[in-house]
Amino acid sequence: MTVQSYDSLFINNSWVRPSTKGRLSVINPATESAIATVPEASKEDVDAAVLAARNAFDHGPWPSMTGEQRGDCIKELSQALQQDIPGLAQLITQEMGSPITFSMRSQAFSPIIVLDYYADLARKHAFEVKRPGMVSPVVCRSEPVGVVAAITPWNAPLFTMMLKLAPALAAGCTVVIKPAPETPLDAYRLAEAIEKTSIPPGVVNIIPAGREVGEYLVSHRQVDKVSFTGSVVAGSKIGSICGSQIKRCTLELGGKSAAILLDDVDLTATIPQLLPAALMNNGQACIAQTRVLAPARRYREIVDTLTDAVANLRVGDPLNETTDIGPLFAERQRERVESYIEIGKAEGARVSTGGKRPSHLEKGWYVEPTVFVDVDNSMRIAREEIFGPVVSVIPYDNEENAVAIANDSDYGLSGTVWTRDAEKGLDIARKIRTGTYTVNGMSMDFMSPFGGFKQSGIGRELGQEGLNAYFEYKTINMPADYKI
Ligand code: NAD
Repeated sequence: MTVQSYDSLFINNSWVRPSTKGRLSVINPATESAIATVPEASKEDVDAAVLAARNAFDHGPWPSMTGEQRGDCIKELSQALQQDIPGLAQLITQEMGSPITFSMRSQAFSPIIVLDYYADLARKHAFEVKRPGMVSPVVCRSEPVGVVAAITPWNAPLFTMMLKLAPALAAGCTVVIKPAPETPLDAYRLAEAIEKTSIPPGVVNIIPAGREVGEYLVSHRQVDKVSFTGSVVAGSKIGSICGSQIKRCTLELGGKSAAILLDDVDLTATIPQLLPAALMNNGQACIAQTRVLAPARRYREIVDTLTDAVANLRVGDPLNETTDIGPLFAERQRERVESYIEIGKAEGARVSTGGKRPSHLEKGWYVEPTVFVDVDNSMRIAREEIFGPVVSVIPYDNEENAVAIANDSDYGLSGTVWTRDAEKGLDIARKIRTGTYTVNGMSMDFMSPFGGFKQSGIGRELGQEGLNAYFEYKTINMPADYKI
């Protein structure tokens, strides 16, 4: 499949020449070859994009359109993107290496479900409510927060963009999207889809760039809110800039989630679901269940079953539908994962399968899916986000101990429990300090809030709560005799 390069940036619904000659190369991690280039936005381009978004917010029709009208526009965008889901999936796989089956479902189709959900919510939301107050009637309004800077990572490029764009549009905000410099191509597909809709000029602007220009966008005085998905290091920097300007900010950061296998676990049913939960997207997922907590009584049995299953995963060309594990997204990511494998060994954990580069693949930034056993939760491989296909199996004595280990983490994004007793699973879920939890499986419910406790972030995406994140609430106190 040939992949298109681009010469322009998408600003004010126009294809605009960038202000510098800087370019970003997109490298297919399976072949290590450049597949396309796009312009790298500069600070001047940020100024132009923010100005377009500011004008569209302050003077354009978008914020004052009805929820129904905005919902219709969002639906048009969903329909435009749906024209070529397989093409979108193939593009994202070539950008960053997701196995194509994962790309179809999670990278290409999920963003459309998110758009449809917020199209519906925009139509239904009561943007202005009249209600009795303490002293006199009040009119409560949900008003759009303003110009939003959306900054997204490479691992789920279109999906993370949509978690911000869809609710921001539903709320009436205008948006400047800065995709990750490694994965700008799907953002160009998004721009092409926006062109096919009635979304007015300046409402969505897309400018691929790296960290420095991203920071300039975050600091921009004409930006009212930043919504960021990425690492804790960057999130902490972005949060501090927003704090210094009292700028609204949502942070979706990393994770080190625990899958607790209870003593009664049915391994035959669990392992096929636990594998994708732990290793999805080649292990490059914030919600990956990378710590498997196993009861000491069944530790060896669980280790053996998991090790066999992981050893049988098919590693290779991510465009092949039978592939389970593709390459890491970049050479530096492979180096990072390999360094953690060495750290784990040095800490005294044992590799039961994997740990090397696959010998049958000459090109591509692959690492074998790897299981570490005899892991203690104090080890770095159990505490730090590796972001690759590496799972640690940690023994526990009793359920109280399992909950304590699961909670003994700086992160609090996701978690799972696996048991024949759903009520007991729910009881465990109530005790775990994470934003999302699943009993017997690994789900992300788009109609419900998603986000992190602790260092996994601040704020929530998805659900009604994800829409609320793009509102300023205004209370208007009316005269006592005002009829509501
Ligand atoms: P990253 O933080 O390096 O970069 C993310 C984005 O932020 C990129 O667009 C990058 O250019 C930009 N950026 C980096 N520093 C910045 C700064 N100082 N100012 C402004 N922009 C800046 O993260 P990454 O390596 O691309 O992504 C992986 C991380 O993302 C992992 O930690 C993963 O857990 C996290 N993630 C979290 C979620 C979630 O919903 N919680 C989802 C996906 C990924």
